[in-house]
Amino acid sequence: MRDHISVSQINLYLMCPLKYRYQYIDELPRPFKAAELALGSAIHSVIEWWHKEQQQGFIHEWQDVAAIFAADMNAQAVDEIRFKNGGDLESIIDKGKELLAVYVKEYKGGAPKAVEQSFRVPLVDLETGERLELPMDGYFDLLEEGDVVVELKTAAKVYDLTTLTQHLQLTAYAYAFSWLRKREPSLRMDILTKTKKPQLHSFVVFRDQNDKVRFFHLAKRVIEGIKARQFYPNAGWQCPNCEYFENCQKWRG
Ligand code: SF4
Repeated sequence: MRDHISVSQINLYLMCPLKYRYQYIDELPRPFKAAELALGSAIHSVIEWWHKEQQQGFIHEWQDVAAIFAADMNAQAVDEIRFKNGGDLESIIDKGKELLAVYVKEYKGGAPKAVEQSFRVPLVDLETGERLELPMDGYFDLLEEGDVVVELKTAAKVYDLTTLTQHLQLTAYAYAFSWLRKREPSLRMDILTKTKKPQLHSFVVFRDQNDKVRFFHLAKRVIEGIKARQFYPNAGWQCPNCEYFENCQKWRG
């Protein structure tokens, strides 16, 4: 058991407890990286760099951003990237550049105050005061002037209302921010869609005490499941991109 829990761990356990075990307990090497994951992580880190530069007063054109992105993707390709539907590295780099051009042109957020800021907070039930033994670790992607917490996603399509209202990361960030600063943040989800014509969508979302208490109980159940070694496969849409597919086929409980 690790010394903390994170939203990524909670999300992975809920998606597939066996994959959680392979990744966080057994720490199995990953034989490949899915192209979509490589694209998302390169876009994320380049946008992080762009905002950090902005913070220091350096304004870069999208061509600079695109060049750094291409270098990141080429570096990731040293390990195996698995493409689907006949894709290749060049087509993924082209798609990433298109997405970044849209982001740099259409980003309308406030002045960045912090980028990729880490936090550690205790997990406390705000109704009863019960405290879990593990703290929660995480990162705020972007904090803007005026207590705005921004989460950036690249997605195949824009999220619907239910996805936005149930999104665990935003709930965790609302909880962590209000715990640390003793005031509520404004929450915004920016979504770059990997559609034929990429678009940047921004949604202001809200979380209240009920959402935070539900999140506490979800985290509590997940931690209990991990401690009880409840690791079983949960097959679904995620399996075609799963790095541990072969291990999973040999699973015997
Ligand atoms: S292949 Fe599917 S069921 Fe098996 S570990 Fe991966 S995500 Fe879970």
